[in-house]
Amino acid sequence: MPTLQNGEKKLKDLRESNIALVINLMRKFGICSRAELSKASGLVQSTITSIIDSLIKAGIVIETGSLVGGRGRRSIGIRLNTEKLIVLGIRVTRSSYTLAIIDIFGELKNLEKHSITKDLEDPSVFERILEDASTFLLKNDQKPVGVGMALPGPYLINEDTSLFLTNQGWKSFTFTKKFESRLHLPVFVEQDSNVGAMGEWWFGNSEIGQGTKVFVSTGDGVGAGIVVDGKIQRGALGAAGEIGHMSINFEGPQCQCGNKGCLELYCSEKAILKAAKCLSKPILNFESLVTEYRAGNSAVTEIVNRAAEMFGIGIANIAYLFNPGVVVVGGSYKKLGDSFLDQVNRTVRRHIYPLFYQNIGLQFSALEHDSCLIGIAAVVFDRLLKKPSFLLDH
Ligand SMILES: [Zn+2]
Repeated sequence: MPTLQNGEKKLKDLRESNIALVINLMRKFGICSRAELSKASGLVQSTITSIIDSLIKAGIVIETGSLVGGRGRRSIGIRLNTEKLIVLGIRVTRSSYTLAIIDIFGELKNLEKHSITKDLEDPSVFERILEDASTFLLKNDQKPVGVGMALPGPYLINEDTSLFLTNQGWKSFTFTKKFESRLHLPVFVEQDSNVGAMGEWWFGNSEIGQGTKVFVSTGDGVGAGIVVDGKIQRGALGAAGEIGHMSINFEGPQCQCGNKGCLELYCSEKAILKAAKCLSKPILNFESLVTEYRAGNSAVTEIVNRAAEMFGIGIANIAYLFNPGVVVVGGSYKKLGDSFLDQVNRTVRRHIYPLFYQNIGLQFSALEHDSCLIGIAAVVFDRLLKKPSFLLDH
């Protein structure tokens, strides 16, 4: 009977969302009791007991021994099993890829880094990543619940297609299915700045339950991930947040993307180094540039301050577009230190109406590890928790 089927489906969906709620609360609490979960979730004790029983049976939750609560009452402590709730993270940049096992709390368990010597559009690059990912899992004897990939270009989620900007313009790639069939695991792809934004939302010290958080990744290019109430804002195709190609000078230099005067032509690591290489005493890599900047080299300071100003204009535009509560800057700029961030802040304040500036909360990422790497765990678990029975059956 259709009505009964509908009723059963609703009950099943309700249990799925209750399980997701419980796992998310346990992620925030660490060690807790069943009674605490009941209070925080609003679910009756019997529902919590039934869910926790299933999670213990599946090895997702483990008991930690007795806890002493209010008025000396004793209860059994429980926590998520970080041996079981792990993902394989693959963080790809234009020059390297990192393989890592990351748990649901964003802790890194194993890590190895490989360099990429060819262009990303060369098919052999992703073949090698797949080979190394299989070997990595075997070598470390790990059984992750899923795989997440952070890539430098937009990921068009509806078409399962990734885009990379090449010398011939945007090139599209599809490889998720191939990875899934070889690794026998669900694979979730996301643009690196979206991964960073989710990493900051889940694991950052400025975690907010609701609102708008923008993560700006800096490195070869500049990109932004926007998370509103815990959800990535992808736009119609999944390509939102490409702020590196937002023009800040419509008469500026030509960019590979087709636009002119793109933000990243003025303030990416690549752009800063391009200027530094032209100095009378040329600087050839970012590490040396950081050293010279921190030592007060005036020519380098001038280049970095100019880039900070341009970056600040980009942040001001973000403030007008999204009115974020927090803007987190990740990537290589952190190495330049607070004087760089102060310069960016001054520019932002100069360029926007005070109402938009007062809550912007511009800060460097406070995470110990790269948010675009550990954020992969946030991306994978966020997707899997839409149907957590998958974790119970895994
Ligand atoms: Zn561009």
